[in-house]
Amino acid sequence: MANWLSLEEALEQASSHIIPLSDIENVKLGVAFKRVLAADVVAPIDVPPWNNSAMDGYAIQHTANPTRRVTQTIFAGQLSETPIGENDCARIMTGAPIPPGADTVVMQENTERDGDTIRFVHDTKPGANIRPRAGDIATGDVLFKQGHSLTAQDLMLLSSIGISDVEVLRKPKVAIVATGDELTEPGKAIAPHQIFESHRAGITAKLHELGCDVTDAGLLKDDKEVISKTFESLSKNHDLVISSGGVSVGDADWVKPALSALGTLHLWKLAIKPGKPFAFGQFGSCYFCGLPGNPVSAFVTFDQIVMPLIQALRGGTAKQKLTLPAFLETPVKRRSGRKEFARGTFHTDENGELRVSLLKKQSSSVMTSLTNANCYVVLEADCEALAQGEKVFIQPFSNEC
Ligand code: AMP
Ligand code: MG
Repeated sequence: MANWLSLEEALEQASSHIIPLSDIENVKLGVAFKRVLAADVVAPIDVPPWNNSAMDGYAIQHTANPTRRVTQTIFAGQLSETPIGENDCARIMTGAPIPPGADTVVMQENTERDGDTIRFVHDTKPGANIRPRAGDIATGDVLFKQGHSLTAQDLMLLSSIGISDVEVLRKPKVAIVATGDELTEPGKAIAPHQIFESHRAGITAKLHELGCDVTDAGLLKDDKEVISKTFESLSKNHDLVISSGGVSVGDADWVKPALSALGTLHLWKLAIKPGKPFAFGQFGSCYFCGLPGNPVSAFVTFDQIVMPLIQALRGGTAKQKLTLPAFLETPVKRRSGRKEFARGTFHTDENGELRVSLLKKQSSSVMTSLTNANCYVVLEADCEALAQGEKVFIQPFSNEC
């Protein structure tokens, strides 16, 4: 493993070359999902904007008097300026503003009504069932920091404070291309000794999850000239070009020579399993990632190194992968040397603890090792054997980016 880099070294080295995007654009909330904020968002109003009722019930001035006369009815969307006296109450609906003089709402379920007279059948604490002005958000609160990637719930909150558009960083423009003479497009007639190309659909989906603009640059033959020309033209109008296949030491592996001839190869070969052949470099200001050809290797390499690099490129705050401790259900025996992202299934046992087992087939060409799994089981480079019941760390598969 002479010149293979550990994942951590590779990430550190590759990240040091990344200059985050800084162009800013203004987008409507409807298309702001997963976009990275270019500036802090500060609350322009209080939420709630006024004291309002948390219940359907009766708004009162809190006293010991258990009987009141209903003098008004207030619906959500209505404003009452008529004060509530000691012996009065207002029939009030959830979300309606509390009228002047009232300080408490009695739940409808705790009352008996006889015409205009209400009797309280249970005690209600002073101040109960009122959502106070600014109880959630106060004007001037910093709600989101620059670099935050917007989630669905963030879009709801921004709407609730009247914000209709946000300043965000532009999306990374990423091209994905597959290489290999043996590959045929899914859906097309297949010649003997050919296989269907399987990377672009999955990698494109992952790129969309990361909030990228994606160009599907198709399928290339193992031809140095064709590969070089395609890289050169894609690098002119993309921030990142990703290729798959042809990055190892085979006689038809032209990706690395093309990168070295046209641009700069920063690093090659990672001490991870699966996923050893991986190249990172750049053509001028366009970054380049060469994924391995084996499908599982391509997927794992994307998750473990390309994803953090794209997160750095798109200018967001760095995110840590969710890593959880789990107990092995089956022993592990392996050759040490490379950090391994074995595929496994985890579940929660009756004591609320996580249990994990590795799938039997772990070859880098076995796609069902990904589709039947729900997590990576992270095995450190020096690990040779683990007994049943030993603690390991898992990374659950998720849509989190
Ligand atoms: P390579 O690194 O190009 O030698 O490819 C390694 C293995 O992965 C070979 O068995 C290839 O046929 C396979 N492979 C490479 N690219 C793809 C792809 N896009 N889809 C499916 N299999 C691939
Ligand atoms: Mg190939």
